[in-house]
Amino acid sequence: MKIDGQCHCGAIAYEAEVYPDSIRICHCTDCQQLSGSPFRANVSAPAETFRLLRGSPKSYIKTAESGNQRRHMFCGDCGTPISSSAPDNPPAYSLRVGSITQRAQLRPVAQIWHRSALRWVDSLSAIPANEKD
Ligand SMILES: [Zn+2]
Ligand SMILES: [Zn+2]
Repeated sequence: MKIDGQCHCGAIAYEAEVYPDSIRICHCTDCQQLSGSPFRANVSAPAETFRLLRGSPKSYIKTAESGNQRRHMFCGDCGTPISSSAPDNPPAYSLRVGSITQRAQLRPVAQIWHRSALRWVDSLSAIPANEKD
């Protein structure tokens, strides 16, 4: 599926082809901290389909407990997370679903690192909801 996306301030824009059946929610503590949110949703895009249309993201290399390194790309002006990937010559990019224009059409197929999920996320629908703030 062809998608495009941009950061909140518009400095960064991109397009890619994603596998709609590769959308996963990650509850790991790194995703919680790096996204500033209870969890993060990602979708995989082969590197050859990812094209930066505008801007140059800043990057942060995260080293996991295992020693595995990931390059996290984000807008240096507004801070919107864009992707993570292997640090060099990545075969694919893990795109942050929140920055994708077509995100309403993308439905997760799995949750990972659920052991660190915040207790209430499994009962989100039980929390009173307003249509606007
Ligand atoms: Zn921005
Ligand atoms: Zn994670």
